[in-house]
Amino acid sequence: MRVINFNPGPAGLPLPALERARDELLDFQGSGMSIMEHSHRGKDYEAVHFEAIALLTRLLGIPDSHTVVFSTGGASMQFGMIPTNFLRPTAAAQYVLTGGWSEKALDEAKIVGQARIAATTRNNDGTYTRVPTQAEVKFDTNSAYAHTTSNNTLFGTQFHDFLDTGPVPHVCDMSSDFLWRPFDVSKFALTYAGAQKNLGPSGVVVIVAKKEFLASGRKDIPKVFRYQTHAEADSMYNTPPTLAIYLVRNVLAWMEKEGGLPAMEKRNRAKADAIYNCLDSLSDFYRAPVEKASRSTMNVVFRLPSEALDTEFVADAKKAGMVGLKGHRLTGGIRASIYNAVSERDVQTLVEFMKSFAKSKG
Ligand SMILES: *Cc1c(COP(=O)(O)O)cnc(C)c1O
Repeated sequence: MRVINFNPGPAGLPLPALERARDELLDFQGSGMSIMEHSHRGKDYEAVHFEAIALLTRLLGIPDSHTVVFSTGGASMQFGMIPTNFLRPTAAAQYVLTGGWSEKALDEAKIVGQARIAATTRNNDGTYTRVPTQAEVKFDTNSAYAHTTSNNTLFGTQFHDFLDTGPVPHVCDMSSDFLWRPFDVSKFALTYAGAQKNLGPSGVVVIVAKKEFLASGRKDIPKVFRYQTHAEADSMYNTPPTLAIYLVRNVLAWMEKEGGLPAMEKRNRAKADAIYNCLDSLSDFYRAPVEKASRSTMNVVFRLPSEALDTEFVADAKKAGMVGLKGHRLTGGIRASIYNAVSERDVQTLVEFMKSFAKSKG
C-alpha cells in the first residue's frame, strides 16, 4: 500500500512514472536488460537521454539561446561549480539570502572569490519568513552574476515574481520549485535544480543555461568542472547517471501527458490555497509564520500551539497514512511539501485531518 508522501526531498514520485520503471526494469523495450545495464553510448540509452532533453525543451519552451545540462553532485555541488566557473578576480558575485540553502551557496562562493550579499531577509533568530521585494535589492552592474533561490525549502517562502537583475546574469537555484509552473527561461543565465524535489530521484541535477554564459566560463579549471565541457558533450562527457535521467524522463513524460506546466500550476495553486485557507480559518490553533506575499506553493510550514501537539500531529497523521510532515530540524513544527506528484486529493485528505485535529485538540 502506498502512503501519502509529504517528504521534502527525496520526495514522492508520480505513480505512473514508477509503474513504467517497474514494468521496464528487467527488460527495457525487448533489449533483455534494464536501462541501467545499457551503455550510455548505445542507442537505447541515447534515446532516453535525448527524449528527456526534448521533453524539458517542450515543457519549458526553452529557446535556442539556452541549453540543458545534466550534472551530478546535487544542487550543493553547483554551489561550488558556479563560482568556480564564473567568478573572476575583477568581479564579485551578488547573493540574495532567503534561507539556509542560499547561505550555503554564498559560503562556497566566498571560498572561491569575492561574493557579496545583495539583500537578506534573515530574522534575528536566524529564520526567514519572507523574500525581499525588488526595491530592497540593489544589484551592482559590474557583478559576475547574481544568485537567487526561487523557493526556500526549509522556511516555506517563495519568489512569486522573480527579481529583475538588470544586466547582471541571473543564476537561480530552483531545486524545490523547478517546473511547478511555466517560466520565461530567457530571463536567466543559469537555473539549476536537484531532481529529488520536483522531478525525479536524487543523483541528477537539471541545469538550463544560456549557451553564451556557459561559454564565458573560466578555462583555467579542470575540464570536468567546466559547464561548457558538459554542454558541448550533451551531458555525456563522462558516464551520466543513466537511471536517474531515465526516471526524470518518466516524470517529464507524465507531466506532459497531464497537460504540461499550465496544468501543474493550476493544480499546485489549488493545493496550496486549500492548506493556507485551512490555516487561516483556524488561526487560533495553527500558526503560519510566513508573510502572505511570500508563501510557498511547494513547502507549507506551520506550527501548532505546543511542541507536544506538533509531535502528536505527525504521529496521528502517520496513522492516517500520511508521512513526511515533520518540520526541518532548524524550524521545528510541521512542513507539508506538496510538489507536483502530490495530488489534490492527497491535499484534501490532509486538510480534513487538520480540521478534525484542531477540533479535537483546540
Ligand atoms: C534540497 C536543496 C538543495 C540541496 O540539494 P542536494 O541535491 O542535496 O545538494 C539546494 N537548494 C535547495 C533550494 C534545495 O531545496
